[in-house]
Amino acid sequence: MLTLRYPMYAPPGGRWFYEVPETGRSFDADSKREVVRTVTQHYVVNKLPVPSDLDARIEDYLCRHIAYGACQGDDPRDPADRPISYFEVVSATEALFRGRAHTHVSPREAEARAGRCRVCKMHSVGMCTSCNQLQATARAFVGGRSLPCDNMLGVCRVFRVPVNGLVYVRDATAAKLPPNCWALK
Ligand code: SF4
Repeated sequence: MLTLRYPMYAPPGGRWFYEVPETGRSFDADSKREVVRTVTQHYVVNKLPVPSDLDARIEDYLCRHIAYGACQGDDPRDPADRPISYFEVVSATEALFRGRAHTHVSPREAEARAGRCRVCKMHSVGMCTSCNQLQATARAFVGGRSLPCDNMLGVCRVFRVPVNGLVYVRDATAAKLPPNCWALK
């Protein structure tokens, strides 16, 4: 089962939702508790057994339908195959940084990491991260730290976060990292 990486925050998009497999009915609300309540009611009304792990099922379902990287667990989606959207990067960046006290690596270590990102198949430069302020946002989250190669860095397809900020995070983890990724060391 997939679980939210940062359960204390609202999921990307701010809504919880679930489709009941037995009936095809969809439910959504601004809290998990409310979705659990209405889905439970739906099972009872339809004289169906309420799954004992309904809470976990709802979280797993949500995780499979929101931005890749917001959850942890064995997500079968291959990030390399999925296009990156602006809003997805905003959500993933917020989820990684907002309210979290990361420690940072040295500029030298960050530069070495960036060098590996630049030759990594998961490094995407298809989106202009300096034009749309994504790079500046990521830089602000790491205390204004920058690198000489910033203008050559894009977005990591696994983390869905601008690489210029990501490489400064001491401990970053995500599912399905390629074996060359610095985050696995
Ligand atoms: S997978 Fe690792 S090495 Fe590759 S771009 Fe992402 S952070 Fe960089």
